[in-house]
Amino acid sequence: MMTTAPQIAQSPAGEAPFSVEMIGVSKWYGHFQVLNSIDFGVRRGEKIVVCGPSGSGKSTMIRCVNRLEVHQQGEIRVNGTLLTDNVRVIDRVRQDVGMVFQNFNLYPHLTVLENCVLAPRWVKGVPRKEAEERAMGYLERVRIPDQAGKYPSQLSGGQQQRAAIARSLCMNPEIMLFDEPTSALDPELVREVLDTMVELASDGMTMVCVTHEMGFARQVADRVVFMDRGRIVESASPGEFFGNPKEERTRNFLSQIL
Ligand code: ADP
Ligand code: MG
Repeated sequence: MMTTAPQIAQSPAGEAPFSVEMIGVSKWYGHFQVLNSIDFGVRRGEKIVVCGPSGSGKSTMIRCVNRLEVHQQGEIRVNGTLLTDNVRVIDRVRQDVGMVFQNFNLYPHLTVLENCVLAPRWVKGVPRKEAEERAMGYLERVRIPDQAGKYPSQLSGGQQQRAAIARSLCMNPEIMLFDEPTSALDPELVREVLDTMVELASDGMTMVCVTHEMGFARQVADRVVFMDRGRIVESASPGEFFGNPKEERTRNFLSQIL
């Protein structure tokens, strides 16, 4: 009698499905081409650090993922869904994708807790009590539960950024995008935010982080992507990227920041 081979339950990590897939993505501001045929994939659970000179298109690239910017050529898929102008598609994608910005972007007239419950309540219809419990859970995870009743202006920059991370997590995103989350912070506050991000990474979150914190890149990145003038110039493991960069432009960049 023929026996069937057992199903392989777990595919190797490198074969995890794509959370984000960009194929040939280009974008122009007027005549200026800001993204030039970007091919970029992020598999579920991967942590990717994006770096490159100011103006190279890093923010624009990750903002295209949740449609804060609109690309003009190529395809972007988020969890398999093709990004289009369809409002329902955009809403769904934004629920899957959390974003943390350089300047925290907390609502100044709301307390930390109110910042955290706003979207779950009004976008997802989570009841107040449940939304508040979930928010307190995440505020504990980023180690600022005692700041829940305060307004953003009463917090340090590091605490504000951790509140912003907690607020994003309250929507249970599948992917987190970080756009230079520590670059507006005083140096002594950078570590606490990076520690939060390292913990998030070790919990298995899919992450794309634009940052020049190369210690963080070495510690958590599966892959480092270097952008210059709207193109991905190099994409490699941290070991390869720092130890044996292939491209002249990457070497120049690294010599400036390391
Ligand atoms: P990075 O994040 O790598 O510093 P950005 O994605 O912010 O780069 O910007 C890439 C380029 O696009 C820069 O030259 C910037 O001046 C330009 N740019 C960004 N946003 C706009 C905009 N809304 N209109 C016109 N040009 C823009
Ligand atoms: Mg930027």
